[in-house]
Amino acid sequence: MRDRERAQLGTGLLVVLSGPSGVGKGTVVAQAMSLKREGASRLRRSVSVTTRPRRADEREGVDYFFCTPEQFEERVQAGRLLEWATYLDNRYGTPADWVDEQIASGHDVVLEIEVQGAMQVKERRPDSVLIYMLPPSWRALRRRLRTRRSESEEIQRRRLAVAREEIKWLPEYRYCIMNDRVAKAARRLLAILEAERARVARTDPSAWLEGDDD
Ligand code: 5GP
Repeated sequence: MRDRERAQLGTGLLVVLSGPSGVGKGTVVAQAMSLKREGASRLRRSVSVTTRPRRADEREGVDYFFCTPEQFEERVQAGRLLEWATYLDNRYGTPADWVDEQIASGHDVVLEIEVQGAMQVKERRPDSVLIYMLPPSWRALRRRLRTRRSESEEIQRRRLAVAREEIKWLPEYRYCIMNDRVAKAARRLLAILEAERARVARTDPSAWLEGDDD
């Protein structure tokens, strides 16, 4: 067993969840965390840093840490981001320290991030679990973005164009979840994490043998 895998034992999973803007990643993760099911209480959602302006229904420190482009760049230079990307003129990044602390204390941390960032995590943390969330149909996604009235039609159009490009990266992911119904998608997410925890590479036979008193 490689050292890296050994170091993972007893720690939480690093989970990358991507999918087109508007597919409902946040809603599904919130639902998964609220279920009375194996693994739900271990889940933590990472709060990203972004230069995007805050939407009316968003809260600082809950949905995002909102910052200026200068503050974002400072974080990059100081090596405080696990990954970062530019999406439609704004920058988004994942605070590294918080993620590492949570994983070390046994929590499964979900990063809701777009494809460029997901590929950085895949490269830097090969043991991370990459999941892509799909809408039931392209039409459903369009409808969903339209009902989110906080954005102009131009922005909605650009988000859909990015989604069409992003889907080409699907083969780089390990799992795919369709968000046809939130409760179902949440159960699928927890089932994937349960299966991932059961992988042989994540189990520790030496700890098991220590209990042998013959
Ligand atoms: P939104 O503006 O809709 O909140 O997010 C736009 C896109 O950026 C979404 O696909 C979202 O998942 C992604 N995103 C949010 N936070 C991060 C982050 O920290 N890193 C990266 N790479 N993408 C992020």
